Amino acid sequence: MDLKSKVREVPDFPTPGIGFKDIMPLLADADALHEAVDRMAAWAEPRSPEIVLGGEARGFFLGAALAYRLGCGFVPARRPGKLPLETIAREYELEYGTNSLEVQADALAGCRHVLIHDDVLATGGTARAMGELVEHLGGEVVGFTFLIELAFLNGRERIAGHDVFSLIEY
Ligand code: AMP
Repeated sequence: MDLKSKVREVPDFPTPGIGFKDIMPLLADADALHEAVDRMAAWAEPRSPEIVLGGEARGFFLGAALAYRLGCGFVPARRPGKLPLETIAREYELEYGTNSLEVQADALAGCRHVLIHDDVLATGGTARAMGELVEHLGGEVVGFTFLIELAFLNGRERIAGHDVFSLIEY
């Protein structure tokens, strides 16, 4: 299936100049959803993850599906202030300003091998922050999976040294 045809490109959203990749049509299509999860899981399975970490918010959808498909647990990396109890945070740069993601300090629950998932790899700042959170908790990043990679932004350079898989490239 041509998964790219299921991604809707929305110009100038959320701000002028940004070509937003809307994955909702892909998620709503049963065959596309099935194929996307299966192909990412097939790549990830030999890397033996125990936990899938998904980034808020669109990394939750297929991150949780991937975890279920791989027989892993799922951990969300959330925006500040959403998680109770002790958390650790990483701040990262956006095109304009900064953002931050948090995970609970006990999130890995003794597991070590972590697969990181997000919907889009753009500049790589978000992915890098998630990798640092995992490593700070004593985990090992066994790979990154993305639905979409904006290759012209060279996000892979920010997570150099890691195995990266993306289904759809722009
Ligand atoms: P970055 O940190 O620059 O790699 O940005 C990745 C994060 O921003 C992901 O969580 C995406 O959900 C979101 N994102 C960045 N660019 C886009 C885009 N063009 N379309 C949709 N989401 C995007």
